[in-house]
Amino acid sequence: MMELHVGVDDTDSKRGMCTTYVGAVAIRSLQEEGVEVKGYPKLIRLNPMWPHKTRGNCAISFTVEVSPSQVPLVKERVLETVRSLAEMEVETTNPGVVFYASEKIPEELKSYAKKTVQEVVELEEAEALAREVGAEVHKFKMGRGLIGALAAVGHPLEKDWTYELIAYRSREYWGKPRRIDPSSVLLMDRLTYPRTFDNLDHGTGEIRITPHTPCPVLYGIRGESPEAVLRAHELVKAMEPVELVMVYRTNQGTDEHLKKSTISEIRPCTSVILEGKVASNPRTIPGGHVIFTLDDGTGTVDCAAYEPTRRFREVVRGLREGDRVRVCGGVREEPGIPRTINLEKLSILELVPLFRKKNPSCPRCGKSLKSEGRSKGYSCKKCGLHFPSAKPKLIPVERKVERGSFEVPPRCRRHLAKPLVREIHREY
Ligand SMILES: [Zn+2]
Repeated sequence: MMELHVGVDDTDSKRGMCTTYVGAVAIRSLQEEGVEVKGYPKLIRLNPMWPHKTRGNCAISFTVEVSPSQVPLVKERVLETVRSLAEMEVETTNPGVVFYASEKIPEELKSYAKKTVQEVVELEEAEALAREVGAEVHKFKMGRGLIGALAAVGHPLEKDWTYELIAYRSREYWGKPRRIDPSSVLLMDRLTYPRTFDNLDHGTGEIRITPHTPCPVLYGIRGESPEAVLRAHELVKAMEPVELVMVYRTNQGTDEHLKKSTISEIRPCTSVILEGKVASNPRTIPGGHVIFTLDDGTGTVDCAAYEPTRRFREVVRGLREGDRVRVCGGVREEPGIPRTINLEKLSILELVPLFRKKNPSCPRCGKSLKSEGRSKGYSCKKCGLHFPSAKPKLIPVERKVERGSFEVPPRCRRHLAKPLVREIHREY
């Protein structure tokens, strides 16, 4: 018996399909042939700041244990599934499939996988590495999906990972409104959160497990363990048939896309963690977006909380010049706009004390003195005395924000971003 790793990417488009569905159908058809699929298939999210990314920028991989004589069957089944389901007629859909027979994943493949999550990788680099490690590649059209397919095969998911259970719709329902009982989702969330997460936006009550695209996904439940997502799935009442259910092990919700950086070292198309001081009070720009400038001693950069982030925006608005913060977010570069960090998370490390000036009081009568104008001192109207060197009193002002960590609401969260609840519940 031997292990064969299969990777697939870039089969979907904005109009439909989902690479996870292609994977699930391929796995089901292999299992029907008696092929053993080892462990959970992997769902790997790639760099969210990648230009020309597909919708969710995810690739999938799974491993089968087969006899050498079964290998041609496995390959044919997978390729056939991709051929029949991928959105081939859409120009930007360029599937790639990788087959890799190996007991161990070499280090260069692991570090390549990390690179595809944090940086931009060109197709040539993926092809060269596939040749080097001896992976078999299949390109459809331009075959750009090869980049992610190889990354999914190589991703070890060894530091942190989560699970996602995906329930798929019957074909005749694709594109129609999704029908699940909302109260069952509320109950499911109450019984399984935080072992499952992002079921609801707890701020607005909005259900987050159903996508809003025409893809075959009915719902996806994210969680810390296969048991947690399966339990949650049993609690959700779907009012349409579920064709297929698959549990993936994934790098979603792990912050793997973030890299510590200094402002001077920021590179385009990446996501960074920066620490520094607020260099200017936040300003609200047309559209309701809130921007402040961060200074870390190596340079300055604008940080933005966009309008849909709602309450998170209010936290950002409460910052003041001099506050020490840590920010996480994607680097946005657009012509005519200064480079901006699109905030995902904000930690307020230190708040500067704020004061408001108050006129000093008269040492004789205790009444508030009147200012004589700029640097001309103060005088008491009642006693008729002048105090040329009196200084205003500084009254501490209560800050509107507190130290701590804050995140954008689930509706604005990147698939890769680690929800704060995962950091708080470390015991899981
Ligand atoms: Zn007085």
